[in-house]
Amino acid sequence: MVERQIIRRGLREPRLLTAFEKVPRHLFVPNELRYAAYDDCALPIGLGQTISQPYIVALMTSLVELGGSERVLEVGTGSGYQAAILSQLAREVYTIEFIPELANRAQKTLAELGYVNVRVCIGDGSLGWREFAPYAGIIVAASAPEAPNPLLEQLTDGGYLVLPVGAQGFQLLEVWKCRGNEYDRRVVTGVAFVPLRGKYGWKRS
Ligand code: SAM
Repeated sequence: MVERQIIRRGLREPRLLTAFEKVPRHLFVPNELRYAAYDDCALPIGLGQTISQPYIVALMTSLVELGGSERVLEVGTGSGYQAAILSQLAREVYTIEFIPELANRAQKTLAELGYVNVRVCIGDGSLGWREFAPYAGIIVAASAPEAPNPLLEQLTDGGYLVLPVGAQGFQLLEVWKCRGNEYDRRVVTGVAFVPLRGKYGWKRS
């Protein structure tokens, strides 16, 4: 997985690669899909949600440029896999999941595997997690109509928000960098994520 899906696509940062070598992805997917855990694709995790494709997890992680001393926020815990990767690369990881069953399952998996610097909460991550803000990096693992203001406000000066923006089916992966009271925005690539729910997400029709 690391060689074919991540290094060959141009991500070579040693700490990032080590994190992917160490975290056992098969323990974050449902038992019946373990045989496919290291395939080059997203997989269903139940309740209509997915664990993202390994390369997309690596790409989004690389875009927040972690050195090891940071506090980071993930919106959309899902299986907990992205949070486990982040736990290897940052000091503290906060992750929020909208669906209680998924949050509880991810919390259990992360605890069993000993990722002690990850804190999981059930809630609307489109509002961020103000109690522990600011964050040097925020990764949103669901597609938003636009970058939610509360997330931009919860960045450190110099921090990055990485998120897919757009409607169902196809989105653009955006990176926002906070520079004092201003933000630089750039588009990295096209992606396909499940929709973000909550106040700054998509309303169910
Ligand atoms: N990062 C996850 C992993 O490693 O397995 C994959 C996340 S999955 C693609 C997107 C997740 O975002 C879903 O579990 C979904 O329930 C969650 N989600 C959607 N809207 C949310 C919101 N407003 N707050 C928190 N989680 C949300």
